[in-house]
Amino acid sequence: MISKKMLINGEWVDAVSGETLTTVNPATEDVFGEVPSSDKEDVDRAVAAARAAFPEWSAKPQEYRSNVLNQIAAKIRAQAGEIAHLAAQEHGMPEKLGFGPTMGAAGNFEMAAVYARATGGELIKSVKTNVMYCFDRVPIGVCALIIPWNLPFFLMAQKIALCISMGNTCVVKPPSINSVIGLKLAEIVDSVEGLPKGVVNVITGPGGRTGNLLASHPGVDAVGFTGSTETGVSIMKAAAPTIKKVVMELGGKNPAIIFPDAPMHLALESLGHHQFFNCGQACGSPGRYYVHKSIFDEFVTRLTEVAKKQVIGDPTAPETTMGPMVSAEHAGKVMSYIESGINEGANLVIGGKRHGDKGFFIEPTIFTDVKEDMMIYRDEIFGPVAVITTWDDEDEVLRRANDNTYGLTASIWTTNIAHALKLGRRLTVGTFSVNGHNLIAPEAPWGGVRESGIGKEGGWQGVLEYTEQKMITINLDE
Ligand code: NAD
Repeated sequence: MISKKMLINGEWVDAVSGETLTTVNPATEDVFGEVPSSDKEDVDRAVAAARAAFPEWSAKPQEYRSNVLNQIAAKIRAQAGEIAHLAAQEHGMPEKLGFGPTMGAAGNFEMAAVYARATGGELIKSVKTNVMYCFDRVPIGVCALIIPWNLPFFLMAQKIALCISMGNTCVVKPPSINSVIGLKLAEIVDSVEGLPKGVVNVITGPGGRTGNLLASHPGVDAVGFTGSTETGVSIMKAAAPTIKKVVMELGGKNPAIIFPDAPMHLALESLGHHQFFNCGQACGSPGRYYVHKSIFDEFVTRLTEVAKKQVIGDPTAPETTMGPMVSAEHAGKVMSYIESGINEGANLVIGGKRHGDKGFFIEPTIFTDVKEDMMIYRDEIFGPVAVITTWDDEDEVLRRANDNTYGLTASIWTTNIAHALKLGRRLTVGTFSVNGHNLIAPEAPWGGVRESGIGKEGGWQGVLEYTEQKMITINLDE
């Protein structure tokens, strides 16, 4: 078992209470890690440390901050193999595939290092003679960063990078399910030259307690959250009394609309990957397929072939393409969606069962004959479950695609790009892709509308979420 302490004010500490929580290897069901379980005193100490570090860090030259971020990126790249191995054991992501998001985490620090040099304001010419207005971009202060379990290293890296690049300080809460991965990133951050103590504090503990104490803490100025819509609602409530700025990256039920002239090989490769990669435990994974009736049979047959090719098993083995679900609880939730699909009359094409007698494995699963009132059609399943419907009228498919409380992302598959762009304009989503699904990158802002969130993460727009605009008025009268 790996035992780790948490990082407060540059020191590695236990919880004041001495309480701990344990994490589990989802492939073996054995206890994997033990980390501190923080309570109010720990949260208070971490927030106080971040507040004390703010004046020094926010006053550092932009180039200085940029250099620190680049150092973190280099250390992540150097340790990518070790990180992917850790993620395979505590998260269940196949080690071979875990390498990509780990490098992506480094890429986020590198991109933020560029943005750190480029922060600037704007000059506004006034209609009034002899008055000049400017606005400056300034850091917000202390940010609470609350991370989900589905891509714990990548998402924690992205949030820290954006936040500290602009001169903010932070208290980060990794997901309780895979806290050891979060503390590994804390070790890397703590090991770089020139990062003052208290700029990045990482505290572990259960969401309902540690996360809630952070989101409601009067010493916290902003909350960056990625996770479920339900938790997002309670965080917004906790943040409301002190009017904290919030950035919310929440759930999705993402449509993939496939036209008769779709580049089929690209669609199958990309959608198949995002459906089964990480067991579908990704906010942007395809949630609802709308396949044109003229190619429906071919698409289902070929996606079924993709499902059959998945190698399920030990995530540390090089041949594995699908590991276990992250936890017993989440595997149970996904299985109950599969059972609801069967009971409500959807056609189970493949899968639908647990795999093996140990670990939280679920077979890659495909449903057709799905009706609009079924739970598998409406809810975010967050599992390796493809929900496929068909269409032949474009206005009707647009209505169906927009008929959901989420609005995260969508993909449109056709060789007629102009047509795809026109359709995409009418989709109520924060981002859509043409002939690709979930084409995320550090320079690309990501984020949803409606119950999928508020604000963007990544890219220059994501950086701006971690700044305030300060207005400056200058009277030029002499
Ligand atoms: P979750 O909401 O259960 O937990 C997320 C984090 O919030 C964890 O650190 C958890 O400990 C903490 N938390 C839980 N209850 C809390 C509370 N009351 N107050 C404060 N913090 C609390 O989410 P999850 O199950 O870890 O992640 C899966 C969800 O995240 C899915 O809905 C997925 O779509 C979403 N997600 C969205 C994006 C995006 O960019 N939009 C990216 C990844 C995941």
